[in-house]
Amino acid sequence: MTNDLLSHVGEIGVIRLIQRFFPDHTPYVKKGIGDDCAVLETGGEDLLLVTTDMMIEGIHYTTKTTSYEDVGWKALAVNLSDIAAMGGTPHTAFLSMGLRSSTPVSVLESFMRGFQEMACEAGVFLAGGDTVEVTSDSVISVTLLGRCSPEGLVFRSGAQVGDDIWVSGFLGNAAGGLEILLTNEHQEKRGRQILVSSHQRPSPRLKLGKALGESGLVHAMIDLSDGVAKDLRHICDESGVGAVLNRGSIPISEPLQTLAQDLSHDPFDWALSGGEDYELLFVSPPEYRKEIEEITINVMGRTATRIGLVVREQGLWLQTGGDRTQFPYGGYAHF
Ligand SMILES: [Mg+2]
Repeated sequence: MTNDLLSHVGEIGVIRLIQRFFPDHTPYVKKGIGDDCAVLETGGEDLLLVTTDMMIEGIHYTTKTTSYEDVGWKALAVNLSDIAAMGGTPHTAFLSMGLRSSTPVSVLESFMRGFQEMACEAGVFLAGGDTVEVTSDSVISVTLLGRCSPEGLVFRSGAQVGDDIWVSGFLGNAAGGLEILLTNEHQEKRGRQILVSSHQRPSPRLKLGKALGESGLVHAMIDLSDGVAKDLRHICDESGVGAVLNRGSIPISEPLQTLAQDLSHDPFDWALSGGEDYELLFVSPPEYRKEIEEITINVMGRTATRIGLVVREQGLWLQTGGDRTQFPYGGYAHF
């Protein structure tokens, strides 16, 4: 027992503490804490994927920037993105909510419409959950199940020295969108709606995750929920390697460039630490570059971007021209 506060040990410290109480493995759990999903044996051919995510009013969403329909969409989308990061196919969701009794029925209806829309798009069915009354901020918890063949499964832990680091789409769009909503910064300007909807209605990369998993060409994969600065570190930690990111290769969209100029903000700050892009970050040996380009063009209509290299020395670096600097620990952290 110590007198430390959760804020002292941080999010990782909290997870490690919880993990300490269950140090053993069982034959049913192929992968426990430490990846985008837990992976469970079913006795059948496929593996069962389980992921769960919580959203708290005022921390993960505020209705100042997001409608209730969008909150419903997003609550499921963030879980779908975790299934995508394993190479899996989602099928069943459970939804638990803590709501104030003063909440209008129409708010819950709006939330459910958004949730249903995302579920239909992803082929997911809602099979249960729990509802309770709260006296403070609303809480939404989604648990999502999916399946994956053992051959198509991709963990965070397989990165190898020399692998290319790829990212599926633009980085920082969601952070730029949030900035527009918070500052009320000319939403109607050309291209800005793309940024705003990246924040309000992220599109999980389910087809791409599955195609990359099935290709067998990817050593490790994660979805970008907290920003490259933090999420790539998870792949490095789990794989026992380091990474160098090439600043000039980071894909920044034109609307984000323009917004950054207008607000005198560094777009790389949004791209590297902004979070909530829900793109896939994956690593693959350089001999498969052509194949990776082909797969991503087939699925998304354009190629993924190569943004860096896996290296032996542990840590994270940013390469700017001939200059290599240690990367600050960015991204969103709880506690
Ligand atoms: Mg994830």
